[in-house]
Parts: sequence; C-alpha cells; structure tokens
Amino acid sequence: MVDEKSIQAVVEQVIRSMTGEAPKAAPATQAKKLRGVFDTMEEALSAVEKAYAEFRSYTREQREAMIGKIRILCRAEAETMAHMGVSETGMGNVYHKTLKHRLVADKTPGTEDLATTAWSGDHGLTLVEMAPHGIIGAITPSTNPSETVICNSIGMIAAGNGVVFNPHPNAKNVSNYAVDLVNRAILEAGGPENLVCSVKEPTMESSNTMMKSPLVKLLVATGGPGVVKALLSSGKKAIGAGAGNPPVVVDEGVDVKKVAGDIIDGCTFDNNLPCIAEKEVFALSSVADDLVHEMLQQGGFLIEGEAIDKLYKLVTNEGKGLNRKCVGRHAKELLQMIGITPKEDTRCIICQTDAHHPFVQEELMMPILPVVSVPDFDTAVALAVEAEHGNRHTAHIHSKNVDHITQYARAMGTTILVKNAPSYCGIGFNAEGYTTFTIAGPTGEGLTSARSFTRARRCVMVDALNIV
Ligand code: NAD
Repeated sequence: MVDEKSIQAVVEQVIRSMTGEAPKAAPATQAKKLRGVFDTMEEALSAVEKAYAEFRSYTREQREAMIGKIRILCRAEAETMAHMGVSETGMGNVYHKTLKHRLVADKTPGTEDLATTAWSGDHGLTLVEMAPHGIIGAITPSTNPSETVICNSIGMIAAGNGVVFNPHPNAKNVSNYAVDLVNRAILEAGGPENLVCSVKEPTMESSNTMMKSPLVKLLVATGGPGVVKALLSSGKKAIGAGAGNPPVVVDEGVDVKKVAGDIIDGCTFDNNLPCIAEKEVFALSSVADDLVHEMLQQGGFLIEGEAIDKLYKLVTNEGKGLNRKCVGRHAKELLQMIGITPKEDTRCIICQTDAHHPFVQEELMMPILPVVSVPDFDTAVALAVEAEHGNRHTAHIHSKNVDHITQYARAMGTTILVKNAPSYCGIGFNAEGYTTFTIAGPTGEGLTSARSFTRARRCVMVDALNIV
C-alpha cells in the first residue's frame, strides 16, 4: 500500500520537475548522525587525536586519493549545500553558492602544492620537507560556511593534518553537513574515521576549549576582526583571514560599458557576501556619470536623497551597528524593506555619495554600491587606501594605464589586486590560479593552500648522497 507521505513526495517531485525547481536539501541528514560531529569539543578533540595517530602512517598517494573523493562529493552535492546554506543563514543565493562549491572542488590545491627544497654540493645533501603541524583548530564564517570547511579540509589533509572545526553558530548545520561529507569521502577512500571533526552546537566556550587544547598545534580563523584578534592573542601559531572592504578605482580611457558590467557582476556575486567583492567605487569625474548610466542599464537601481538615508538607517540599525538581517540579501529585498518597488532586472543598488559616507567606509556585505566621483587619479588612490582601512585584503582597478595600475598596486599593498575584471577572478573563478576561501592578509600567508598548513623541517646529510 502507498502511504500518504510517499504520495506527497511524488507530488512534490512532479511539481519540481515541472517548475524546474532544484531538488531540496537532503532533509534526512538532519536526523541521522553526522560523521565527525560530536556533542562536545572534548569528544571531538579526542576523536581527531585517534584519527591523526592512524593518519600519520598514510602515504601522500593515499592522502591524494581521499582528496579526490572529497572533490567528487563536493561537486555532486554542491547544490544541496547551496540550498542548505541559503535556508539556514538567510544570506546569499543558491546559484552562486553552487558555483562556489564547484570552484572549491575543482581549484583547491592538493598534495601537489607541497614542494621539497634541496641543496646538494661538496658537503653532501640538505633537504627541507613540508611536514604537518598535527591537529589544526579552524574557525569558519557564516558567509561561505561549507565552502570554507571543504576548502580548509582539502588543504589541511593534503598537508597531512587532522582538523577540528568550530563553525559559525549561525551556519552550524550546513558546516557540519560539510564535515560529514569530508568524512564520508575519507572513509570511501580507505582513510581513518573522524580525521575532520566538529561540534553539534558551536559556541564561544567550545571555541575557547579548542584554542586552549594542547592537542591543537595551529589555529586558523576565517572571519571578521573579532575572531582574528582572539586567535592572535592565543599564544599559539595562528593564521588569521580577516575582514576586507575592497575599493574599486575606475580610471579614464576605459570601456565604461564593460567596466560597469564587471563591477556589477562582482558586487552581486552571492549577494556581495565574498570578502573580496567590490564594496565602493572611486571613479574619475570624467567617467563617473557615464559609469553610473551604464550600471543602470545592467541591473543597477539608483537611489538618491531620502532613500539613501532610509537605507542607511535600515542597514546600520540607525547607525548603531551592522543589521545582520540585511547582510547577504538581494538588492530587490533591500529596496522593498525601505518601501521602494525595484525593477524586474534589479541586481544592485547604486548611489552617489561622498568619500566618507558609511556605505563607503563600512563593510556591509550587501549589494549596495556607492560611487564617489573624484577629480584626479591621485585622489582616487588616496581615498581607496583610506577606505580599505589597512586590512591588506583586496582592491580592484579598471585602467588601461600601466603606470596608474602600478601606482595603485603599490599604494594599496593588498593581498589581492584584480585588474580589469570582476572581483571573483581574484580567487581563480574565470581566471588563472588556484582558489581559496581563507585569505590570510593579517598574518601574511595570502591565499592559503596546503603549503600554508605545514611546517618546514630540515634534514642534513654531510659528505654523502651528493651523487655528482
Ligand atoms: P564573524 O567574524 O561573525 O564570525 C567568524 C567566526 O568567528 C565564527 O565562527 C564566529 O563564531 C567566530 N568568532 C567571532 N568572534 C570570535 C571571538 N572573539 N573568539 C572566537 N571566535 C569568534 O564572521 P562572519 O560574519 O561569518 O563573516 C564575515 C566576515 O568575515 C567579514 O568581515 C568578511 O570580510 C570576513 N571573511 C574573511 C575571509 C578571508 O578569507 N579573509 C573569508 C570570509 C569572510
């Protein structure tokens, strides 16, 4: 006999196939025990300790086999995790989150990233090999939750480590789904149980337990300034990937139509959640009006006067601090929240402000783009440096003038600089180079990869093994 639940499931499936709606996130995963996810941080730590002891004897080829399986599962379940991330956090969009997971699957470096250095000569042979730290404690954000868990896992496992995560509490379900996915892949490849662990209910307390545990040899945090500061005060080796507020400078002599499209594409990617996304524009006054005009043809929606004030009050809680309910929301939703009916094609809210407006100075993580008109290139550079606040994170420029690009790059001193393209090219999306979701500006590792999670060990042989 067919029961009511089965009929309901079939009806839902038919409706989805007719409307083209993507399959829902696997609800069953909520009920079943997730691999590697424990009730307490103490249990998680002791499980990863056991797994790491076993993992020490695995070859590099075995590690690579595990990573290969993680890539396959990450690709296969990209859309499921994208759905889960959007529904749990209320931020971003499924389409772009799916692309981000695929990027992680395809372009996060594996064991090939680890290079041995050798010196040979009259006195023998000296090697420096990249060794694991042991167990790494990692803190992950709500903006790219499962992407960061999987990207970190690939790099950390490639380097031979075990990992314990304390994910963002607002994204714990999708983050822990990703922890389970990584463990499923490891087991399928014949690896140990619980090499990557986490806690069911991550809190500040569980984070402190993790940071203080003598088992944890390296800490890695991806998030805002609070978490990076906490990590750097821990007394342990730490990698801190902190906040950004990337400016875009638009020079004279550019193809304004292309530039407008590039900036809007980057700024609206996952509703502006990526820390590398365009957050404010400084355009030379000779191109600023044309640029705004072109932006309005490509999904921009211009707000002026009172509407800017209303939006400011909404997104900053009347100036008291970032309104988390607005972070990562679509431009149309933000406009509706202030009583404005958007156009059908609206993707990005555009406003013309002065350089010291909070929309310019604060990292909002919303598709709101202030465009500041500036009299000359030197002023654009000076204001961009100010708006980046010394984060050393990311900056963008659209210019055909090599001297200007060089001047800007030197002045910004950021970890990433994207020239004449959307911001996401900076992490290898539609561009050359590998990807990461942990960009360590404050501690200097830059775009982290397997080699960032190693320690260098030197091995010296005197007067032998040099064979020429
Ligand atoms: P967040 O700072 O709110 O949280 C990040 C993580 O840190 C969470 O797990 C949170 O619980 C934890 N945390 C926060 N304060 C802490 C403290 N004092 N001690 C211990 N743990 C603490 O970040 P979010 O809102 O989820 O993410 C957005 C922020 O992260 C933005 O500022 C963005 O620029 C930045 N970010 C940076 C990168 C990068 O690679 N540099 C990547 C993604 C996000």
